[in-house]
Amino acid sequence: MTSNVLVFIEQRRGKVHPASYQLLNLATQVAAQTGAQAEACIVGEGVASLADAVAAQGAKKVYIVDDPVLALYRAIPYTKALVAALDAAAAKILLVPTTFMGRDLASRVAARKRAALAIDCTEVRQDGADLIAVKPMYAGKFSGTFRLTGDRLQVVTVRSNAYSAAAPQTGARADVQSVALSLTDRDQRLKINEVTATGSGVKDVTEADIVVSGGRSLKSAENFKILYDLAAALDGAVGASRAACDAGYQPHTRQVGLTGKVVTPKLYIACGIDGAIQHLAGMRGSKVIVAINTKKEAPIFKVATYGCIADLFTLVPLLTEEFKKLKEH
Ligand SMILES: Cc1cc2nc3c(=O)[nH]c(=O)nc-3n(C[C@H](O)[C@H](O)[C@H](O)COP(=O)(O)OP(=O)(O)OC[C@H]3O[C@@H](n4cnc5c(N)ncnc54)[C@H](O)[C@@H]3O)c2cc1C
Repeated sequence: MTSNVLVFIEQRRGKVHPASYQLLNLATQVAAQTGAQAEACIVGEGVASLADAVAAQGAKKVYIVDDPVLALYRAIPYTKALVAALDAAAAKILLVPTTFMGRDLASRVAARKRAALAIDCTEVRQDGADLIAVKPMYAGKFSGTFRLTGDRLQVVTVRSNAYSAAAPQTGARADVQSVALSLTDRDQRLKINEVTATGSGVKDVTEADIVVSGGRSLKSAENFKILYDLAAALDGAVGASRAACDAGYQPHTRQVGLTGKVVTPKLYIACGIDGAIQHLAGMRGSKVIVAINTKKEAPIFKVATYGCIADLFTLVPLLTEEFKKLKEH
């Protein structure tokens, strides 16, 4: 086993999840501590063309597992593909984004490789041969520090935006190695008959640098339009509290919190959200939090960087207008 750090590049239909590039930057820092190098693994169909973009983000070597079977994510073929890449790379550390795909895949790969595993971490560093991983626990009330011993492969999933991506180095080239995959019929037990796109095409909350979220106080799905307008002006995504999703104002795919998605954007704007502990669990790691609420005792103000005691129906459209003006200049 070399001490190289391998990053799983999550891609869907050729679009790389931004967290993958953040992990390449982390991998470069971790590898530098031992004179090792950051490497990447891309799994999918027709994905070799992504190698240059991945090299520009710091990967010195790129392993490609390319097969029509891997066109869409399925746990068993993807696990085999990543294990094959790991065997080829003989890396000591595997970093995977904490996404639905990443969580599923990392735990399967760790089980196959008898590896040490830490899920949903926000800090990763080396301590001799060991790896130290820090993760928020109990809805963010505590943080746990884990030691992954260096006598085996160390697998860590890392939250989006816990680290930033490096500026791309134009012209950077990586050594590209294609990895063979042998699958049996048993590996393809799950057949995909048809995939229909149902998404609105609007950014997902886990991918955006800015998230504008709304609560029950929006009162209807139609009223969420003012949040979509603000998000559009900021090139952000729209999120929602569970109360808003349960009321049918937004789909549960947009729910932020303990039973929704965990987001760590650069800016989180909570509009008419009370700040229940279960909601905070999904967004308190955001870099800057702006809370808009009519009730000055609302718990959201305890975690907010900036608090506005205001009616969201008045303030949000004003903010949208101001941001639009700023963009025009
Ligand atoms: C096991 C479990 C899991 C849960 N998981 C989640 C989760 O993942 N995510 C989540 O969000 N919740 C979750 N919840 C629910 C959570 O406890 C809260 O009930 C929920 O977050 C409340 O949503 P809210 O803040 O939108 O609504 P409310 O609690 O109704 O708060 C509305 C807020 O809007 C303010 N307001 C009203 N009108 C205006 C206005 N015009 N302008 C500005 N402010 C206004 C009010 O002052 C209030 O603070 C979970 C609960 C349980 C038990």
